[in-house]
Amino acid sequence: MAKYPFLLFDADNTLFDFDTANENALRFCCEQNDIPFSEDTFARYEAHNSALWHDFDRGLATKEFIVVERFRRFLAELGLSRDAEKCNHDHLDSLSRSTLLVPHAAEVCQVLSRTHEIYLVTNAVASVQNRRLGLSALAPFVRDAFISETAGAAKPSAAYFDYVFEHIDGITRENCIVIGDSLTSDMQGAVNYSLPCCWFNPKRLPAPAGLPIDYEIRDLRELFDIV
Ligand SMILES: [Mg+2]
Repeated sequence: MAKYPFLLFDADNTLFDFDTANENALRFCCEQNDIPFSEDTFARYEAHNSALWHDFDRGLATKEFIVVERFRRFLAELGLSRDAEKCNHDHLDSLSRSTLLVPHAAEVCQVLSRTHEIYLVTNAVASVQNRRLGLSALAPFVRDAFISETAGAAKPSAAYFDYVFEHIDGITRENCIVIGDSLTSDMQGAVNYSLPCCWFNPKRLPAPAGLPIDYEIRDLRELFDIV
């Protein structure tokens, strides 16, 4: 009998290699909109992007606003007049086609899906997540994906996990585990809702003080011994 028969996986940078996909998406966006691409260009975009997602995480802005606003600010900084809405559209189009996975994600999901129920718990743009999951090697192993945009709430809020629990038969606070790379959304969300949690930390970042994390792994295959 599995210790945690219900596995709640974060998607970006836990199963999907979002960092690589994100840079590829900006490169594609730049090609489509006649914007010179470089590492510096990417760093400038990413500064606006992460600041705005931080606003979203704190409930200060809507997703619809921030996804276009990040390109408005990026283009303003570069002094370029381009269509920010089209840039965002091109960027999301590339992201939604990107099915790059983190090492061993497919193997781990395939094996665990025989004994566990696998779900995705993700703060993201629904159209991107759904399309990407459908195209990816993980699709046969994932029972359902709970996307914040559809749930009407986001990690780490309790309202988001209320939504997840309403949609999974048999789940309890003891028989599931949240697996994710983000301290502020995944681990904090699990702690807020009194759920077991496993921090996926391949970059070997220092563990935070004051956040009671149950497990920490560098490689997804370590889950075989935990769950
Ligand atoms: Mg993540």
